[in-house]
Amino acid sequence: MKQELLDLYEDAGALLNGHFVLSSGRHSARYLQSALVLMHPKKAAQLAAALAEKVNPDDIDMVVSPALGGLIIGHEVARALNKPFIFTERKEGEMQLRRGFTIPEGTRLLVVEDVITTGGSVRECMTVVRAHGGTPIKIMAVVDRAPASADRFDIPFETVIEIDVETYTTDACPLCAQGVAAIKPGSRGVA
Ligand SMILES: [Zn+2]
Repeated sequence: MKQELLDLYEDAGALLNGHFVLSSGRHSARYLQSALVLMHPKKAAQLAAALAEKVNPDDIDMVVSPALGGLIIGHEVARALNKPFIFTERKEGEMQLRRGFTIPEGTRLLVVEDVITTGGSVRECMTVVRAHGGTPIKIMAVVDRAPASADRFDIPFETVIEIDVETYTTDACPLCAQGVAAIKPGSRGVA
C-alpha cells in the first residue's frame, strides 16, 4: 500500500532532485512536489482514502487544513469522511481563519496537510483552531519528510508515506557550498 502510494509520486515526477529551500527555511537536495500528484483528482482521492481509513468518522466533526498545501488533500479527506472542510490561511504572514468560516465551541477537528517537515504550518493552524474554540484531535499528512522528529506535535500524528530527507541550515548546506542556486519549490513552478 505504502509503495503503491509512493509510486504515485514517482509516476507524477513529484520526487524532485536539485537544491531546494523548504518552507522551514532549511535546504534540501530532494523535494516532494505534492501538487504534481494532487493535480490528478483520482490520485488525490486515492491518497485521501488511504488517510481516511485511519480515522473513525465518529471521532471528528470537521476537517481543517493550512492553505495552500493542505487544501486539496484536506478537501478530499473531508469528502471521504463526509465531513465539512475549512482552512486557515496566512495574511501578512499570520495564520488566520477567514472567509466566514466559524468553529462552534467544542468542535473536534482532524488537521490534514500534504507534506510535513517541521510541522510549523500545522502548529499555526492548530493555534488558530484552538483560539476559535475548536479541539484538534489528530493530525494527518500524506508524507512525513522527517519521521525521526517524533515530538513535533502535542496530539497524535499519522502519515501514509515516510521519507527521511536530509535538510541543512544555509550555513551547513553542501549545495550552497558548491555555489548551486537554490529554488523555493513551494512558490515557483518546478519542472
Ligand atoms: Zn543550500
